[in-house]
Amino acid sequence: MTEIRLTNSRTRRKEALAPIRADDVRMYLCGPTVYDRAHLGNARPVVMFDVLFRLLRHVYGADHVSYVRNFTDVDDKINAAALARREAGATGTLEELIRARTAETIDWYHADMDALGALRPALRGEATDRAEPRATDYIPEMIAMIGQLVADGHAYAAEGHVLFDVRSFPDYGALSGRSVDDMIAGARVEVAPFKRDPMDFVLWKPSDDDLPGWDSPWGRGRPGWHIECSAMSAALLGESFDIHGGGIDLQFPHHENEIAQSCCAHPEAEFARIWLHNEMLQVEGRKMSKSLGNFFTVRDLLDQGVPGEVIRFVFLMTHYRKPMDWTADKAREAEATLRKWRGLAGDTLPGAPDPAVIAALADDLNTAGALARLHEMARALPGPTAPAFVGSAQLLGLLTPELGAWATAAPDLTALADRLAALRAAAKQSRDFAPVDALKAALISAGVEVRMTASGVDLVAGPGFDPARLPEPV
Ligand SMILES: [Zn+2]
Repeated sequence: MTEIRLTNSRTRRKEALAPIRADDVRMYLCGPTVYDRAHLGNARPVVMFDVLFRLLRHVYGADHVSYVRNFTDVDDKINAAALARREAGATGTLEELIRARTAETIDWYHADMDALGALRPALRGEATDRAEPRATDYIPEMIAMIGQLVADGHAYAAEGHVLFDVRSFPDYGALSGRSVDDMIAGARVEVAPFKRDPMDFVLWKPSDDDLPGWDSPWGRGRPGWHIECSAMSAALLGESFDIHGGGIDLQFPHHENEIAQSCCAHPEAEFARIWLHNEMLQVEGRKMSKSLGNFFTVRDLLDQGVPGEVIRFVFLMTHYRKPMDWTADKAREAEATLRKWRGLAGDTLPGAPDPAVIAALADDLNTAGALARLHEMARALPGPTAPAFVGSAQLLGLLTPELGAWATAAPDLTALADRLAALRAAAKQSRDFAPVDALKAALISAGVEVRMTASGVDLVAGPGFDPARLPEPV
């Protein structure tokens, strides 16, 4: 069996994955807070974990892999969005407005991630809603876990809040490699009079009548963010599972707090064995931010006509542990490559993936190495290795039938055909055919088949068609 090696943030080493149960490899990814469209950076862990999910399914069998990704549907940003809608005149109770907002956002999220070719999470091969738990469906589990932490002296109630006592967990800070005292010195911590230690974090907080709330032993309130993932991962994957991941921005405090909660509530268990973190995304060399005007969502790109498969390809060009830079140049390069590859693959059905592609992915998800091997394989096409080429690309979630509609749509070459016809008409007068030959050569080198007959000029995109190399239709 293929050995998969992954860089474990917890040990800071590349380690062989040794599943706790080979018949059910289990992983958890922190999902989105559903109040708005996913921005491009939100999509990076989704694509990266989708590649890992596909690799695990290939190695262990689809029925032997469980992948859970949550929706955080209780959050102050969601409440604020719903309150703003009510103030703008929307009718309905706050609960109804919140439900409408979160349901709409979940639908957007699904549509956008589907467009990137990300498989839906699944429990033992079954893509069920349970694999995408909503936090509000697990409030009793969260209350039970908080109660356990209070009973065992790891948490305390104060003024309607319940706080985790970080000094009760000696390993607090181990994931990010910081001591509690370092964190206090370096972090912007919320100082509250009811906290025993500035780093103590909220497990439960009170809700006034204008906010969603649930009855609990500590009064009507709502959970803190961190407890959601601890409760849902335990409910769906068990107290010990194999892989937990998210963006590097979640390592502290979110993942540190998840570890503290889960390890203290289930001291006999391991929680997650391997922690994976992807680095952040930039745009044209700069941090993506609303103030720099380079902030955009996945939907913005799709609406501009950038195919989801192209976005996915650009993500795969950079290793997940390196910062990645989204650039328009990379998107053009990716589109040209995919058009060429789709032309070469034609209707070929996928065969067994190439061993070198599997080896690259099994080596800490070396997606750039896998793409390099695909480039190499493409040079031997068309030929008998086409099924292995298609099977290998599909292991990366590329060249799948679902994502292909954009590439088969015929490009509009009318303007170039008109120009070529006009040049030919002029050349018949001037007897200088050089401009006709030059345009024809440029079109052919862009992969266009040029058919010139007495009745007109016909241009057709051939198998090696590369729109980036087309001449400008002046
Ligand atoms: Zn989480």
